[in-house]
Amino acid sequence: MEDKREKLKSFFYKINNCRQCKLHEVRTRFVFGSGNAGAELMFVGEAPGKNEDLQGLPFVGRAGKILDDLLGSIGMNRKEVFIANVLKCRPPGNRDPRIEEIDTCKEYLFEQINIINPKIICTLGKYSTQLILDTSHGITGLRGKVFHRNGRTILPINHPAAVLYNPSRIEILQKDFLRVKDLLDSENKVEPSPAGENENREEGYKSDENHQLGLF
Ligand code: URA
Repeated sequence: MEDKREKLKSFFYKINNCRQCKLHEVRTRFVFGSGNAGAELMFVGEAPGKNEDLQGLPFVGRAGKILDDLLGSIGMNRKEVFIANVLKCRPPGNRDPRIEEIDTCKEYLFEQINIINPKIICTLGKYSTQLILDTSHGITGLRGKVFHRNGRTILPINHPAAVLYNPSRIEILQKDFLRVKDLLDSENKVEPSPAGENENREEGYKSDENHQLGLF
């Protein structure tokens, strides 16, 4: 865990002055992502919005409040997970990410995933879902379905911001978060072992909680 935290920190310092696409000219802050470097669950959104650009942290605006509430509904908080975006810089006026921006930025996300090595990735909305699943299918047909890629479980769900435009969408998100919880629980199900070989698993989880990545 400490190793992952150090790796993530040095990766942050390596890329946070990125000038690889034009978005660097209009950003206030580079939004690396934040949470627990040892997280088993990672969320991937689209791109920073206005508040994220100002604060340098992901999901701190109205969509972030919804994400926090949804996490709370399954007994979790953002210190236990890692939250990142497809793009690390805000597209002007919150326009959609462009293909060339995604192509330039995606290696950063892939390296974050490599370092954190989460068991489950929950993609929030169309852009992260299409990138992680390497598909051009829309989110409507993919949401709520479980996929497996590189030994990880991928669960595409709607972007929390969808609730801001259509409040009834919260019910689908709440249902999908229960699915996230079920998937996490089944990943962590410990088979009883007479030899006691699983005794350390609970301990390992607790110590992860005690070593959150702070700013990251
Ligand atoms: N929407 C996103 O996709 N990411 C953020 O960080 C904030 C809003």
